[in-house]
Amino acid sequence: MKKLIQVTNLSVAYDAQSTAIENVSLTIAEPMIMGIIGPNGAGKSTLLKATLSLLPSKGTVAIAGEEAKKGRKHVAYVEQKSQIDATFPITVRECASLGTYNEVGLFRKVKKKHWQQVDEALVKVGLAEFAKRQISELSGGQFQRVLIARCLVQHAEYIFLDEPFVGIDSVSEKIIMDLLHELKQQGKIILIVHHDLSKVPDYFDHVLLMNKKIVAFGPTAETFTTANLRRAYGEMVMIGGEDV
Ligand code: ADP
Ligand code: MG
Repeated sequence: MKKLIQVTNLSVAYDAQSTAIENVSLTIAEPMIMGIIGPNGAGKSTLLKATLSLLPSKGTVAIAGEEAKKGRKHVAYVEQKSQIDATFPITVRECASLGTYNEVGLFRKVKKKHWQQVDEALVKVGLAEFAKRQISELSGGQFQRVLIARCLVQHAEYIFLDEPFVGIDSVSEKIIMDLLHELKQQGKIILIVHHDLSKVPDYFDHVLLMNKKIVAFGPTAETFTTANLRRAYGEMVMIGGEDV
């Protein structure tokens, strides 16, 4: 399987008056942890959804050499937290097992082998002892770790996370980030929408700066510059509490 995400001239308009993303083209052909950075409303979430063909869009997307609707089976996607129903009455273990449905098939019984993978994933995210708990009884950080466990059992080659660290504790954030680095070492391509600029150099080896259009894309050291940040955010941009 060709490890590749190729986005060509992708545009999304939710209404006739304005576009949410405009002519976005990018090629990702090597394992990386890429931060998608830009102001509120810049189209970051829209870019992930359109890449997965979850929205009507113009342009083309290839994932692992297949058009998006087929190729997206290779992608584990966690949408922005506000969109997910954390009150749904299922346990931590059941929620993580949803990641196996690609292999198991929806409404089929999860097999012993898969339950083993689920339990291993829960150990990895430090939630083994919470397996039987309802997801509604978790903290925000613990819930986000369940969603990461769900990604792990999916064995996806590509992982898309939309603002995974919003409102979560620093222990959960570190557990997740360490795991993602491990997954990158295994050759995965990981895209993370992120808004905390102070963490960008620590977290990401590549950065996509955007504001409807791509402002810059490349290795963090070359891309995450004051000049590019100004182009994406405007004149006033704060990093770690300091004006730049
Ligand atoms: P970001 O994730 O960077 O904050 P979004 O991709 O959520 O930005 O949104 C980009 C633009 O599209 C914003 O102006 C937003 O208001 C608009 N938008 C997002 N989702 C919808 C929707 N479902 N219907 C109409 N407009 C939307
Ligand atoms: Mg968003």
